[in-house]
Amino acid sequence: MESLRELYRIGPGPSSSHSLGVRNGCKYYMNKYPDHEKYRVELYGSLALTGKGHMTDKVIEDFFGRDKVEILWKHEDREHPNTMVITSLKDGKWINEETIYSVGGGKIEVKGVRDLVDPDVFPHDHLREIIRYCDKENMDLADYVFRYDEGIEEYLETVFKQMLDVVERGLKGTGYLPGKLHLQKVAGEIYEQSLSAEDPTVRQKLEITAYAYAAMEESSSGHTVVTAPTLGSSGVVCSLVNYYYRHGVSEERLVRGLAVAGLIGNVVKTNATISGAAGGCQAEIGTACAMGCGLASYIEGLSSNQIDYAAEIGIEHNLGLTCDPVGGYVQIPCIERNGVAALRCLDAMNYARYIGGIRKNRVSFDMVVNVMKHTGKKIPVELRETSLGGLALEVKM
Ligand code: SF4
Repeated sequence: MESLRELYRIGPGPSSSHSLGVRNGCKYYMNKYPDHEKYRVELYGSLALTGKGHMTDKVIEDFFGRDKVEILWKHEDREHPNTMVITSLKDGKWINEETIYSVGGGKIEVKGVRDLVDPDVFPHDHLREIIRYCDKENMDLADYVFRYDEGIEEYLETVFKQMLDVVERGLKGTGYLPGKLHLQKVAGEIYEQSLSAEDPTVRQKLEITAYAYAAMEESSSGHTVVTAPTLGSSGVVCSLVNYYYRHGVSEERLVRGLAVAGLIGNVVKTNATISGAAGGCQAEIGTACAMGCGLASYIEGLSSNQIDYAAEIGIEHNLGLTCDPVGGYVQIPCIERNGVAALRCLDAMNYARYIGGIRKNRVSFDMVVNVMKHTGKKIPVELRETSLGGLALEVKM
């Protein structure tokens, strides 16, 4: 498996595959072919169908310069649901065609180029194998990450600080999110409600929700956030990090929790997908939920086997979840979905802690990742980040 640096990426919202990945694709092309007269970017599949709502055009124009690029929206399917083809104009000829795939979480692959694949740093690909290895070596899952992913602790400290910053900014947000949905920013008000709630359970739920909304409203505004594992699902882990930090858990412990969460996300990325266009929202929110379950369980002192159980719940009960963003904006149902998933992480952690002690869990995390992969292939294309079905048809703008 690759370094956690490839999973937690810091960059502009609202969508890791449609903004961050596209920007990385443009950067790749520009590094190879700088100083050409003009650039042409053809967008296919989900990039073409939801690119406007995901600010894909803005990212491309900001990168090349509005008068140096033309964007062609091609409503045709290609070999990957997020395909872009870039060419450039030199001496009156359109040349140097490159086909680039935005494969999820901001990562790109380039047709015919093998060395873009990041090297593996972890020797294992499945959580069961990792837990067995950790038990043998008498270490926990965070130790495992630090043993193999060189320098990752410092990088995760940066991620941690960025997550605090995102929520700080998001709670102060006012006005409306960009786009035609005219959605008001509400994170700050939810937080205020949490402060005045008398029931401690309600207070806790509103607080966690406020942090998830804050992160997502920042992402939807095109501001800098952290993929965890994507930008559309970036509010879940970020919310829990902020919640635990504001309730006395140390930075050092939370950085270890981010390592565990990242390991879980990495297992999904390696064995299935974290892309909504490839596997539906189960791949994004399901994975984010599993990561949050892992983080919460680690912070609460649960064993590696209990972490496996909680993370398994995080995906299992999101299986089949479709991706149908209204108007192509990463707002409805995405923002609320992050809040709901963050809350679910604490329930899953408690299931693992209490129910896990009564009866052995029959479904492992690795099994459910496998099921998620196969389920994703059966989700119709209308419900995989194309805005051609589901809520995207039902909710009028
Ligand atoms: S519905 Fe889920 S997968 Fe689709 S854009 Fe929203 S958060 Fe991402």
